[in-house]
Amino acid sequence: MLQTVTGPINEQEAGTMLVHEHVLVGFVEDGKLTPADYDRQEVVASILPLLLQLKAAGCATFVDCAPEYVGRDPYILKELSEKSGLYLITNTGFYKRPYLPPFVYQASEQELSDMWIQEARDGIGASGVYPGYIKIALNDGTAIDQTQQKILRAAIRTSRETALPIQCHTIGGDIALHANEIMKQAGFDRERFIWVHAQTGKDLTAHKQLAEEGMWISIDSILPGTYETHVELLKQLLAHGVSGEKILISQDTGWYTIGADKGGNMLPYHHLLTDFIPYAIENGLDAQWLKQCLTHNPYQAMRKRS
Ligand SMILES: [Zn+2]
Repeated sequence: MLQTVTGPINEQEAGTMLVHEHVLVGFVEDGKLTPADYDRQEVVASILPLLLQLKAAGCATFVDCAPEYVGRDPYILKELSEKSGLYLITNTGFYKRPYLPPFVYQASEQELSDMWIQEARDGIGASGVYPGYIKIALNDGTAIDQTQQKILRAAIRTSRETALPIQCHTIGGDIALHANEIMKQAGFDRERFIWVHAQTGKDLTAHKQLAEEGMWISIDSILPGTYETHVELLKQLLAHGVSGEKILISQDTGWYTIGADKGGNMLPYHHLLTDFIPYAIENGLDAQWLKQCLTHNPYQAMRKRS
């Protein structure tokens, strides 16, 4: 099953899923972002029309990817889910430097994971909302730094304790391979790990190896103006031997930006379904497979499994 902000759902209910999108995002350093920095009703009023358009385009489940301190707000997500009729999924976990609150640098791996495990067991604060996955991020570059390694290990422990999968912001193949080594050494099943932003890895032999070892490959920047590039990338991934069973597609778009006037420029969520899919079929990708990338694959990647 999948844990949504309004309760658990099965694969049939999950239907067409977008695995990586955003409702509310704020980049404030040192974990200083609080609900006092935005107006919940303004966020709901701004985002609801975009979610209704998405629902009308055939989507049933929307995964919000803002972690705590970067715009995760369970109250907003619950209200938007109830008003739009979409299933929304939120997370537990932390992002990366410099958006982490100072205590994270001192805390042990166990202390971090204890907080996340508690949210998975008892819900997020008093909201009554439970996280459906673990969201973390790794630093850019060629190797994972000590803080983000600690966060990765805390996520591994949380996944083991809660059966939730990990979505991990990972820029470039070197970092993905390093993360894979850490997970392998820990004996952690890579089936439980989604390489978020896998389109940033340039050498597709990494994608092939990692997918073979179980990792999910999330191609999540499919925005208008990039369709040709993305169709080509999907074809290349398949040609390099990446299993079509391991590929996820999404847009990483939206969103209400905290601090921008009226939330700034919010982009619609429906274009992947209404524009990209027909374009991709016309340009040689298989319709059934594309559907699988929006239904069966994301459900398998995101479902709770013990
Ligand atoms: Zn994102």
